[in-house]
Amino acid sequence: HGSAEGSNRCVVFNRELERLRAWQSQLEQALRRAVSQAALYPVYQPIIGSDTGEIIAFECLCRWTDPNLGVVPPDVFIKHAEKLGLIQALTKQILTRTLENMRLWPGSLKVSINISATDVADKAFMEELLRLVAGSSVPANRLIFEITETAVLSDFTGSRRQLDAARRSGIEIALDDFGTGFSSMSHLHQLPLDKVKIDRRFITDLAEDETSRNIVSGIISLCGNLCIACVAEGVENAEQMRILRDLGCTYIQGYHVARPVPAEDVHGLIARPATPCPTTKQTTLMSS
Ligand code: C2E
Ligand code: MG
Ligand code: MG
Ligand code: MG
Repeated sequence: HGSAEGSNRCVVFNRELERLRAWQSQLEQALRRAVSQAALYPVYQPIIGSDTGEIIAFECLCRWTDPNLGVVPPDVFIKHAEKLGLIQALTKQILTRTLENMRLWPGSLKVSINISATDVADKAFMEELLRLVAGSSVPANRLIFEITETAVLSDFTGSRRQLDAARRSGIEIALDDFGTGFSSMSHLHQLPLDKVKIDRRFITDLAEDETSRNIVSGIISLCGNLCIACVAEGVENAEQMRILRDLGCTYIQGYHVARPVPAEDVHGLIARPATPCPTTKQTTLMSS
């Protein structure tokens, strides 16, 4: 009885595994085709100043809808693109289209591009990105490269060298998803960073959880001492924005401001009134 049940489970498990493998190979084939046809496209999510509520930059995020598989989220397809050696082609496509789009946007507007962990220390590839920027009519100081700490772990010296070169050309460097994974004080100190993006997981329960508030407050003052600006990711309501502004966080990004939009909707977002930040509740009673 026991062993029959065991073997039944085994059959079910194998079937599931087979289905997963089939889905993955379908996904990988579709991804190869999509990259070769440049069918993936960028969307843009605004980043505002916490004091003025005005948009100062957009983060470029990649999107893919396959005719058969439907919408595949970037957390899924980026991993596969890295594994299949397609990520560099994808990044170049996204950067090229972004540089074209940026010519139509105000000159003061910056755009952040995510650089895969696998690519930051790749000298030839990073030089290629710099050449794409230099060959466009967009000044390099309108671009920000977002990198993660995972990227610099395997080859710190190589990564720092490439980031230094990017920064010398005028490109800003932002450290993404800070506070997750391998956050290290020496990274803040030794990498040429302009911005640190505080991971969404600390922002989600900011209003309810004192520990999150203390962590965020600590990151902000640490960065302040090192002259690095902070961006809070995943800000979903006005209360979170108020707390962040009061803690001294310079920039805000999240659904509270706007979800990512296609390139043609960027003008509409810029034209919109600034996102207001609620005033801090007065704890002292005013007598009149
Ligand atoms: P990320 O770089 O940390 O990007 C922020 C993610 O948070 C985006 O997810 C964005 O849509 C989402 N987000 C923004 N505001 C909110 C909010 O208020 N609430 C919630 N729940 N989520 C919010 P998305 O677009 O699904 O991208 C996921 C990840 O995939 C990115 O995380 C990035 O690591 C990667 N990715 C996306 N596009 C690219 C790309 O072009 N190249 C590379 N290398 N990676 C990319
Ligand atoms: Mg990012
Ligand atoms: Mg992030
Ligand atoms: Mg992330």
